[in-house]
Amino acid sequence: MREAQALVALRGVDKVYSNGVVALQGLDLAIREGEFVSLLGPSGCGKSTVLRLIAGLGDLTNGTIDWSDQRGDIGFVFQDATLMPWASVFNNIYLPLRVRGVARAAAAPRVERAMEQVGLAGSGKAYPRELSGGMRMRVSIARALVAEPKILLMDEPFAALDEITRFRLNDDLLELWASQRWTVVFVTHSVFESVYLSTRILVMRSRPGRVSSEVVLETKRDSSFRTSAAYAEQCRTVSVRLAEAMQP
Ligand code: ADP
Repeated sequence: MREAQALVALRGVDKVYSNGVVALQGLDLAIREGEFVSLLGPSGCGKSTVLRLIAGLGDLTNGTIDWSDQRGDIGFVFQDATLMPWASVFNNIYLPLRVRGVARAAAAPRVERAMEQVGLAGSGKAYPRELSGGMRMRVSIARALVAEPKILLMDEPFAALDEITRFRLNDDLLELWASQRWTVVFVTHSVFESVYLSTRILVMRSRPGRVSSEVVLETKRDSSFRTSAAYAEQCRTVSVRLAEAMQP
């Protein structure tokens, strides 16, 4: 049943890099449409490798990746905002459409919409150096959204930000996710962040990288969730799972 609804399913995936590192072994995971799935685990357990493989960056050593018919564009957001410093906010966000051959005039309303979605309306003429780290990340998210992807892959996007900025971006991302009905796969080191954001957490273990356990979370959240007893309890559960995954 679950498999039938998967937007993307990885089955029996092994990834061995050319230097012999076995990054993933026998990895099975299915992402269903509309889910917000976090991959949580220690450094080196293969989280980024999973995202890159879903994005089609790099070959599998073994196994398959199957997409449902719903596959559309993929949006990818990295930890570093990776903006072009010489280009305005508008032009940075326009880039994915430009490389697809969309004319500037036709792209403009889509770029404006993406800026609005991330709270950057009216900032199109600014340059990356004029922006805070949080705003640069908003530009990076808008650039991923401008092609209206079905699935958004996020690799520790908020890890380099201060906590207040991170909390705001967490809330804004959740609001966007709820209103746009995307599917999100989110890589993080943070138990607290994964519990706050996700509908499901896949805890991974390393050497070789694989899924160690799964935690399905309550999704009814409002602004009081971060300080609620339910949140604390779920963080405790996930911390225990993570500790188990880190046992040799
Ligand atoms: P994570 O995102 O969980 O920190 P990664 O997917 O980045 O883990 O890496 C998994 C393992 O694969 C690590 O041991 C890492 O050193 C190794 N690795 C990642 N990318 C490469 C690469 N391009 N070449 C060789 N080894 C790599």
